[in-house]
This record gives sequence, C-alpha cells and structure tokens, in this order.
Amino acid sequence: MREQLEQLKSSALQSIEKASSVEQLQEIRISLLGRKGELTAIMKGLGSLTAEERPVVGQVVNKVRDEIEVALRTAIESAQEKVISARLQSERIDISLPGRSQLRGTKHPISLVIEEISSIFAGLGFAVAEGPEIEHDWYNFEALNFPPEHPARDMQDTFFVENNLLLRTHTSPVQIRTMLKQKPPVRIIAPGTVYRCDSDATHSPMFHQIEGLMVDTGVTFGDLKGILTIFTNQLFGQKTGVRLRPSYFPFTEPSAEVDIACVICSGKGCRVCKNTGWLEILGAGMVDPEVYRHVQYDAENISGFAFGMGIERVAMLKYGISDMRLLFENDVRFLRQF
Ligand SMILES: [Zn+2]
Repeated sequence: MREQLEQLKSSALQSIEKASSVEQLQEIRISLLGRKGELTAIMKGLGSLTAEERPVVGQVVNKVRDEIEVALRTAIESAQEKVISARLQSERIDISLPGRSQLRGTKHPISLVIEEISSIFAGLGFAVAEGPEIEHDWYNFEALNFPPEHPARDMQDTFFVENNLLLRTHTSPVQIRTMLKQKPPVRIIAPGTVYRCDSDATHSPMFHQIEGLMVDTGVTFGDLKGILTIFTNQLFGQKTGVRLRPSYFPFTEPSAEVDIACVICSGKGCRVCKNTGWLEILGAGMVDPEVYRHVQYDAENISGFAFGMGIERVAMLKYGISDMRLLFENDVRFLRQF
C-alpha cells in the first residue's frame, strides 16, 4: 500500500507539473481529492486495515495528501499569475495617447434666438406661454377677427387637417388660449413653430414665430413703442433706431410694422436693406376690441398691445445668414458655427 501511495504521489506531481491551465489543475484535484478521487478511495480503504497498520498507513496517506495539495495550490497560483501578466502585456495602456473626445452638439440658431428673446422679455416681466401646433380654425382665425371668407385669410393659407383643424399659421392662438384662461393683467410671449403654404429663399412652409401680448388697465401705444425699443436695443445693440409704419392686421387696431435701422450698414443703405437703411422685423398694434369680445374681456376698461416676429428673420440678421434654407438643411458644418 505504501508503494501504491508513492506511485500515486509521483504520477500526481508529474501531471501537476505538466498542467498548463487553472482548469486542468482543478480537474487533477477532483480526480485525486474529489468525492470519487483516487486518494479519497484509498483513505476510505483504511477501514479495512488492522488496528496496528491503520495509524502507520494513515500517516503516510496524510503526508501524500498534504504534498499533493501544496503542489496543486502553488501550481494554480502561478497559472493564475501567468494569465494576469499575459493580459497586462497585451492590454498595455499608452498613457501618452490623446484622449478620445466626445463630440458635443451645439444649439440650433433658432433655439438660440428663441432663448435670447425669451430672456429679454422675462426681464420685462413677460412669461412664456405655449399652445398646440394643430389648432382649431376658431383659435387660429375666428377669435382673432378673421371671419370665414375674410380676405386676410389668403395671406395665411395653410395646411388643413380635417373638421376645421389646421396647422396654425401664427402663434396668436396662444394669446386667445391664455386670455380665455386668465383675467388681466396678462404679460406673455409665445414662441413656437408655425406653418404656411410658402416656399422660397426667404419663406419656408414651416417656420418659427415669437409673439407677445400685454393687457392691463391703461396700456397705451406709448407702452408698446417703449417695450419694443428696449427689446430691439437689447437684441441688436444699444441705440438701434426703431420706426413704426402704419399697417393692417385683423386683430390689432391701430396696427404698425416695426422697422429697425439696418444692422448691416447702420442705416446708410445696403443690399440687405434694399438701400432703405431700414429692416422690417415686427408686426404690432393695439389689440382690437373685437378680439376681447371673443375672450369675454371688458374692452371698455382694459387695453393692450400685441406684437409678433419671425425667428428665422431675426436669426438671419443677427448671424448674417443669407439663405433661410440653411437653417433647415441640418448640415453640421453650418450648425457647428453657433
Ligand atoms: Zn443696410
């Protein structure tokens, strides 16, 4: 039996030495020391020995088992070390390489202009209001004093969905929705996407507007001019000249087109301002009493003004963009400049 054990030991140590992986070593451990292992079988066999033989052989068995276990443990540890150092060799990090930078997007010029205008008006006490882009004819036209068949509707031909639903042609329906929800005083601006049946270098079937509405007791045309002068000076620079020309909108009376002194030539005359020295940027006026009637406001005791402008036009002037279509082509070479 002693011989059998010596043989088992030497063959075990040999195969441990030959084993090249942790997995192989684990298999060897199982085949020797596992529940059905060779050495385990011998240990179980000790019971059949005589009382004199048992402690002697038992001692040898324990010694063999200890030696095998130590050999296995050492071999497994060195196999694991080899795996780790091989990985360290192959995955070495070159700390002198430049880092991989994440490409960050930039805000679209339309968003930048909306944010800037909103923050100027926030400073003047105007809250931002929003409304749906698919709108009822009543909010988009009728409540704003465009009765059915009114010729002014032709200037704002749009895309009709169904049952008097349409893509809104301006953000003015937000004014109606706001006045129906709250009593004066009202001080809001309404930025958003609007739609009309136009498409060329200076018109897009989808574009953006920002409108403002202020209603309170004793609001005058002078307040309108004052607010718009503060606004244009903040947006285009101090002392930007402002002028108002008489105009017509169904929902304001009196109405005005608001021009600023040309930001390109400072009023001397250039191609952008068609040599007039002025650029039209806004439509405005005192809210027509007919509009108040639709929202149950008392036109005898309150007054107010409204104004609106195209965001694309402002963005083009502010950033010197010559073609509106650039704003919607999503060319990152263009968009990254902002
Ligand atoms: Zn000019």
